[in-house]
Amino acid sequence: MPDTTRSADPSPPADWGVVGHEWAIHHLQKSLLHGRARHAYLFAGPSSIGKTTLARAFAARLNCLHEDEAARPCGECRACQKIASGNHPDIALVEAEEVGGTLKIEQVRELMHRLSLRPYEGRYRVGILRRFHEARPQAADALLKTLEEPPPYVVLLLTAENVNLLPKTILSRCQPLRLRPVPVSQVAAALESRWGAEPERAELLAQLSGGRMGWAVRALTDPDALTFRDVALDDLEHILAENRVGRFERAQTLANPKRKAELRETLVLWQSFWRDVILVLSESRVSPVNRDRRALLNRLARELPLEEATAALQATRACLDDVGTNVNNRLAVEVMLLAYPGLRR
Ligand SMILES: [Zn+2]
Repeated sequence: MPDTTRSADPSPPADWGVVGHEWAIHHLQKSLLHGRARHAYLFAGPSSIGKTTLARAFAARLNCLHEDEAARPCGECRACQKIASGNHPDIALVEAEEVGGTLKIEQVRELMHRLSLRPYEGRYRVGILRRFHEARPQAADALLKTLEEPPPYVVLLLTAENVNLLPKTILSRCQPLRLRPVPVSQVAAALESRWGAEPERAELLAQLSGGRMGWAVRALTDPDALTFRDVALDDLEHILAENRVGRFERAQTLANPKRKAELRETLVLWQSFWRDVILVLSESRVSPVNRDRRALLNRLARELPLEEATAALQATRACLDDVGTNVNNRLAVEVMLLAYPGLRR
């Protein structure tokens, strides 16, 4: 497949419709220069940072019908529109079911069968496997065969919150792209220009998002997201004043298997909060993400030694990793809460 992006008079690069992650887009564009995509890519990074959005945009880049390759994805053709609405017959997305929370072998097998068929209307069959760190080991094995001998028209796009949680056999066969938080100013500008947010609100949500574009959009469009955040941070404050028994009870509520997504989001928020405590404690010039909780941040920074705040951050990270795998969630949350410092009421 010739690529016109290398012609003498190149067109300006297409807009992928993704906020931030320019280097990753550039990298993906470049990986197509030799005429075809690699077999498998891994988009890694914190939840709601834009991994799946980027994967979908790349799928559109691969299957867009615009005749000028440099203009792909055009965002307007039949293929681009079908991909945006999740209806393209050659793009399949699988992820762990919310209840139970693991990606199962049957889901991967079914996907592999679908991918083995020639593309129906696009150039590529694209399989997007979300949060692949949640795959059961057998499900990862089922993917391996396709990763080792993929049909030339198949591209696999995996996402994961933490690369270290994936089996090495999978990791070694994927091209990893580690996504970083999007600059707050860029999140704010996008909320204003693309989602029509008022400047002040865009500024606040961008700040609270910590560079997670997906969270910022959710907080703008769904009032529950902000309420959820408030409750989660209030909960954290209460937990710090609880004794062991109280913390065990909290762990049971938090680890409810039917609310795994909520647990994950709570842990992400607490992680950003402990990072803020450390910033304030170490008198960093970087401003905290959770600036609306300044009073509590200051109190913790005053009362806690740095080691305790660091231990709390590490315990939260470890719990987040455990929740992504097949570990007993309740046990993981208990271990974390017992590692948290205590506050006088
Ligand atoms: Zn298109």
